[in-house]
Amino acid sequence: MSQHHIEVKVSAQTFADNILHIREYISPSQICVVMKANAYGHGLKALAPTAVKAGANYIGICTNPEAATIRDLGLDVKIMRLRMGFPEEFEESIDSLDIEEQVGSLEAADYLSAAGSKRNQPIPVHLNIDTGMGRSGFFSSQIETIKQVCCLPGLNIVGIMTHFATADGKELTFTQKQIEDFYCLRQALNNYLPDKVLTHTHNSAATVRLTSKCNSLVRVGAACYGVRTSQDFANPPELKPVMSIKTKVAQVRKVAAGKTIGYGSLFTTKRDSLIASLPVGFGEGYPRALFNKGIVLINGYRCPVVGRVSLNITTVDVTDIPEEVKWGDEVVLVGSQGKEEIIFEELADKFQSVHTEINLMAGFMNQITYI
Ligand SMILES: *Cc1c(COP(=O)(O)O)cnc(C)c1O
Repeated sequence: MSQHHIEVKVSAQTFADNILHIREYISPSQICVVMKANAYGHGLKALAPTAVKAGANYIGICTNPEAATIRDLGLDVKIMRLRMGFPEEFEESIDSLDIEEQVGSLEAADYLSAAGSKRNQPIPVHLNIDTGMGRSGFFSSQIETIKQVCCLPGLNIVGIMTHFATADGKELTFTQKQIEDFYCLRQALNNYLPDKVLTHTHNSAATVRLTSKCNSLVRVGAACYGVRTSQDFANPPELKPVMSIKTKVAQVRKVAAGKTIGYGSLFTTKRDSLIASLPVGFGEGYPRALFNKGIVLINGYRCPVVGRVSLNITTVDVTDIPEEVKWGDEVVLVGSQGKEEIIFEELADKFQSVHTEINLMAGFMNQITYI
């Protein structure tokens, strides 16, 4: 049964187009389309075939169930884990999922080496080098340890990677420093790595802003979904948002000046107003933090959210719309209507978040309609 009060639409065609554009920027490098967290909320199962058709060499995931979803679809694509796994995950992967594992510690390398040797089946791994992200992996200074890992039996080193901390920032000095450190180490390991090893550093922001010619692979998430990759740098205009969210007007009421609206009475009408209620709230993934801050589109006009966003109801001020607003009228929460557009980034900026958080919540809490 379909939901009638909210429509979360995802365009597989736009997703494919974005991937094709990105492949043009990076050619001849390979692309890992990052689809962790249920494809950033857009639906892994529905979009994985599109990614492969559009030329994804790899799909990037975090969990085994994500990999199983891809394998169950029978897709001809490599799978890369974007964090280090646990022994239980490794075992399952080796038996049935064939995930290329990220390795960032000697302990994990030893574990996989033993597992690969025991089965006489080398485990494909990517060495994760921390050049400044500060979360995980080998420090670039641990060169002797890394060399030791390169010499372990039972491992097939298919990649060496690092991850940027500030590729989306205003200036790229730190990113350039990370690149230098990484390639310095990469050079020093030349005799220890297979000739065909994949070298990969770039996420979406770096792919859009910097040349990727030293990379034989890029790992791109956000840009494939058409969301902003940097607050300080515009995406190429051909990258379009893949998701849109609409709802309908549930009721319109005349509210006299001086009345309060919603939980906590956080908004007081300053004039005789027309207030519309919408049948969505944070239970549908519309961020609660948008109280008195959000904007929606009705009849092509931008209307402010007034008062608290409740679990399943949000109120907006439609006083300034010249035409009559009626029960059932279309409301765009994210997307375009008439000449106006609201993008995920605009809403995210209003509460110091990132667009992906809104994609995720909307995708997880509602049925998605694929077009
Ligand atoms: C999530 C992730 C990416 C993708 O980042 P985007 O900014 O969405 O492109 C790339 N690499 C790693 C290691 C990741 O975890």
